Amino acid sequence: MMNDFLNVNDISFINGAYFLAAVLFIFSLAGLSKQESAENGVWYGIIGIAIALMATIINPSVTSFIYLFMAMIVGGAIGAYFALKVEMTQMPELVAMLHSFVGLAAVAVGYNSFLEHGILSGMLLNIHLVEVFLGVFIGAVTFTGSVVAFGKLKGLISSSPLMLPHRHKMNLLAGIICFVLMVHFVQQNGELSTLIAMTIIALIFGWHLVASIGGADMPVVVSMLNSYSGWAAAAAGFMLGNDLLIITGALVGSSGAILSYIMCKAMNRSFISVIAGGFGTEVSTNSNQDYGDFSETSADEVAHMLNNASSVIITPGYGMAVAQAQYPVNEMTKKLRDKGINVRFGIHPVAGRLPGHMNVLLAEAKVPYDIVLEMDEINDDFKNTDVVLVIGANDTVNPAAAEDPASPIAGMPVLEVWHAKQVIVFKRSMNTGYAGVQNPLFFKDNTNMLFGDAKDSVEDIVKGLN
Ligand code: NDP
Repeated sequence: MMNDFLNVNDISFINGAYFLAAVLFIFSLAGLSKQESAENGVWYGIIGIAIALMATIINPSVTSFIYLFMAMIVGGAIGAYFALKVEMTQMPELVAMLHSFVGLAAVAVGYNSFLEHGILSGMLLNIHLVEVFLGVFIGAVTFTGSVVAFGKLKGLISSSPLMLPHRHKMNLLAGIICFVLMVHFVQQNGELSTLIAMTIIALIFGWHLVASIGGADMPVVVSMLNSYSGWAAAAAGFMLGNDLLIITGALVGSSGAILSYIMCKAMNRSFISVIAGGFGTEVSTNSNQDYGDFSETSADEVAHMLNNASSVIITPGYGMAVAQAQYPVNEMTKKLRDKGINVRFGIHPVAGRLPGHMNVLLAEAKVPYDIVLEMDEINDDFKNTDVVLVIGANDTVNPAAAEDPASPIAGMPVLEVWHAKQVIVFKRSMNTGYAGVQNPLFFKDNTNMLFGDAKDSVEDIVKGLN
């Protein structure tokens, strides 16, 4: 057996490997925070996971390699299949599905750890029972919450929030009952029926918690479930006495919570209002307001305008991802830069459907990193810019957020593209964006609409630049 090779210092060897893996995971997160270092970040993560897997396989407590390898082959095959198949725009639903697996695993680890808690007694037993109870609770909430989030994102479940009467009181009651059950569970030195009762309540609680949140808030919910899945993994780490799982779970738990906070801030939403639910319905206010007329333009006219510009800013949004226009956008950028035109990109923190969505697409098309700027870095430069190309973006460039206090997106920081001399908006119709709010930008004197699929429009402009 492989574990016969290790004996004397095997545990400290494994702990050393776990420590190294944990450090690599921290480097990985640090690397992923910047485009320039993201590739290295991914490699740190891959090496960290490989070391952690090796250390787990040679762990002396592993007695059956068959099951371990079978699980690895099945898990690896499912992971590879989805990684190759999934579109960037489907990423949130893939992540939601993966979180449901983490939740389910935490429940399974909790029950296993409860049924095999061995000879623990006194305070140690109490601590262990609390770990089991919390691990199963967080895991069960994460599991059903993630399944509902997946269903809503995939369109299998209605995206409108479930507005049961007294829903906040019901959630509070579920929390109180679970707490009372935990005290009882510990007092009884672990009673299976109490654990099962709590699991059922937690499964319903997780389902209801996410069902009450509208589809529009689902990406924030996915990020929040990411955080829960981290804490579920950390709880499993405590139960298994696995330091690496505790560290990794804490990293995932805290980074998910920070990401949820950043997303809420960028959408000007309060974190509590998202979690409490009842929001995120299709908003359709001010639809009757008359914004005046809009002007249409053609690809040839835009090419001509660009040829005569000295500074251009491109602000991409969800439509660029849908159209897969990033490749012709890169080609257009190259051509304009070759002509000596200053071209830069302005990226809104929630452009697209997941944080960093635009950065990933632009990096994929090999747009140089140094011309891709964050909203705060570029917002003051629009007034000195000749042409802004709004490619498939809508809410993230909506002046109503800054100018209309009655707008549903009032207060959301946006790219202030309307200060430029000329704005071209690439989209297929006058339809609203994700927030369902009309965009007064389209009706401004310095804005022209270029209708059509963004990829086709940009390709036509590239031809016109030749
Ligand atoms: P929006 O979703 O506001 O608008 C996208 C626009 O793209 C639409 O107006 C649509 O208009 C257009 N479009 C769609 N397909 C195409 C196509 N093939 N060619 C050309 N245009 C197309 O995009 P933004 O990126 O500006 O805003 C993102 C929104 O998502 C914000 O409201 C944000 O709060 C929300 N959100 C973002 C998250 C994130 O983490 N990034 C998370 C949660 C929510 P038309 O149909 O007329 O073509």
